[in-house]
Amino acid sequence: MKRSNRKKLSIVIIVCLFIILNIGCSNTNKNPSDSILYNSDVVSANLAIHFIDVGQGDSTLIQTPSGKTMLIDAGENDKGKSVVNYIKKQGIKKLDYVIGTHPHSDHIGGLDNVINSLDVKCVYMPKVSHNTETFKDVLSAVRNKGLKVETAKTGVKLNLDQNIKLEMFSPNLSKYDNLNNYSPIMKLTYGEVSFIFTGDAEAEVEKEVLTKNINLKADILKLGHHGSSTSTTNRFLKAVSPKYAIISAGKGNEYGHPHKETIHKLINAEIQIFRTDQLGTIVAVSNGKYISFNKAGQKTVSKDNNIKYNSIFNAKNDVSSGESGNKKDLINTGVEIVNIDLEAEVVVIQNRNNTDVDMTGWKIVSIKGNQEFYFPRGYILKAGEAVTVASGESKGDLRWSEKPVYIWSNDGDKGELYDSRGNLVSNQ
Ligand SMILES: [Zn+2]
Repeated sequence: MKRSNRKKLSIVIIVCLFIILNIGCSNTNKNPSDSILYNSDVVSANLAIHFIDVGQGDSTLIQTPSGKTMLIDAGENDKGKSVVNYIKKQGIKKLDYVIGTHPHSDHIGGLDNVINSLDVKCVYMPKVSHNTETFKDVLSAVRNKGLKVETAKTGVKLNLDQNIKLEMFSPNLSKYDNLNNYSPIMKLTYGEVSFIFTGDAEAEVEKEVLTKNINLKADILKLGHHGSSTSTTNRFLKAVSPKYAIISAGKGNEYGHPHKETIHKLINAEIQIFRTDQLGTIVAVSNGKYISFNKAGQKTVSKDNNIKYNSIFNAKNDVSSGESGNKKDLINTGVEIVNIDLEAEVVVIQNRNNTDVDMTGWKIVSIKGNQEFYFPRGYILKAGEAVTVASGESKGDLRWSEKPVYIWSNDGDKGELYDSRGNLVSNQ
């Protein structure tokens, strides 16, 4: 080899190495650790998934405990700015991954705004083009940032964080008649919990994915195509068997999303439903073992009385607009009120820590009735476990009092939990 050629080759190698090591999309997973920390700062120490209310459309923001970020879709063109603002409000300036599920404007409309306004490292989209200004805008935003679109397709695996992986199960074909079906069906796994994202993938793709004999089981299913009856087939729903369903749709949208058929399927399967058209932005937080929400989902009968999945989390970063937060300062101890059933007179308190908590001196206060319940001396709430405190005629692990006294007002009542030092640690 001639000297000049050798020099050229080494430059090429160095450039390649530089690209591999530095330019976005790097997929290294350093120092994997099995231990899942669950400390005082609940939100930043956990995986947070924000189903952003963008009206009729989709936009999902994922934050990992180490600060890695992913955005799946960004709603319509006119929602781009508010999606960017929402992301910035979370203290995020950089998106490690941006996924545009398919070229429809209710998904990629706001993406050009996102790419132009934030430090985006890597963009994934399925290999299909569309002859719209919206689509072209996204492509030029990608180009202007010196990025290129990576192909979203079956088999793509992204290591988002220690123990957090995302895998794509579709698209499997190079051509679909319906643009919706290019949407990747993706599974995100963190420890013992998992989430399925679907974009607008319809029955045809669900069937494809089902034949692949992969483990689709997940705790949360983000329903395909805004809850349309053309997605979420019985077989697919059964394979995923979620505890929770998320539906992103606009209030009173012209398509009638989510369709009644889909809602009935969910209710029949006793799946708790969270809809952005009813609840606004929905945030799910997980430590890899438990999942909590910033909003209460539509109640369905609890499938297995498994309290760990029946929690409602007053997230510190409850970002939903127009809601005034609680004025009192909360001390985060990892022990919280996860539910107060006013009618049944049952309070559920959960210890989300990896260690047991001595509840001696802790108390629950019913605000309206101004009544207090003190935990018995030496009462230990084990790591990860929940305790029910019952009043009225209900049965629970603990009773508010021997007599069937009614504590909670059915017209609405709030409860507070205080630790042994009198710090307010949780309220609902
Ligand atoms: Zn859509």
